[in-house]
Amino acid sequence: MKELLIATRNKKKLKEIRELLSDLPLKITSLADYKDMPRIEEDGQTFAENAVKKAATISLYTHKLVMGEDSGLQVKVLKNKPGIYSARFSGPGATDKKNNFKLLRELKKVSLKKRQARYRCFAALTDYKGIIDVVSGSCTGVIAFKAKGKNGFGYDPLFFVERYQKTFGEMDPVLKARISHRACALKKFKEVIKKYLADSPK
Ligand code: IMP
Repeated sequence: MKELLIATRNKKKLKEIRELLSDLPLKITSLADYKDMPRIEEDGQTFAENAVKKAATISLYTHKLVMGEDSGLQVKVLKNKPGIYSARFSGPGATDKKNNFKLLRELKKVSLKKRQARYRCFAALTDYKGIIDVVSGSCTGVIAFKAKGKNGFGYDPLFFVERYQKTFGEMDPVLKARISHRACALKKFKEVIKKYLADSPK
């Protein structure tokens, strides 16, 4: 079975990706399955650049088929912050808890109407020859006034989806896996992979 190496060490993100790709005829591995992988500096200016950098760095090093995923939260009234800095929003030693706390503080005086936000996800597929494709997905919501729910990760306890009247933190993971930014991007990613596999020599 052909291998797809996911260029991440984020366990919760990897769990979601594994589930979303579970129906593909691929052996899914991640950086945690290998020793001595190069460190990837996320110094791109966009999610797309970072997704490509993650995938291409690992493909060049391993000569494997690799997926690089970069994602984050954009809050309109904060001029799309934290954006590509979502994981390190609260600075060195950032944790999900500290990041959520900082986000709530920055939105302290902001009314519900102005708390619109969007999760973004970019996924790049590369092999030893270069970039095969980059796809993206998004999901809109509002930032709640306090954290609710224990599911998911990152900003999920604050990301409130009006249609379901729940934060991602309160939502059944099965529903998140249907409507999230990652679900939307990976639906396109699966089509890219299927075409790649069909075109690859047997
Ligand atoms: P990355 O691993 O560099 O792509 O950073 C992703 C960061 O964006 C995470 O650490 C979270 O802070 C945030 N993020 C991305 N996707 C999600 C999600 O599905 N739920 C919650 N937070 C997310």
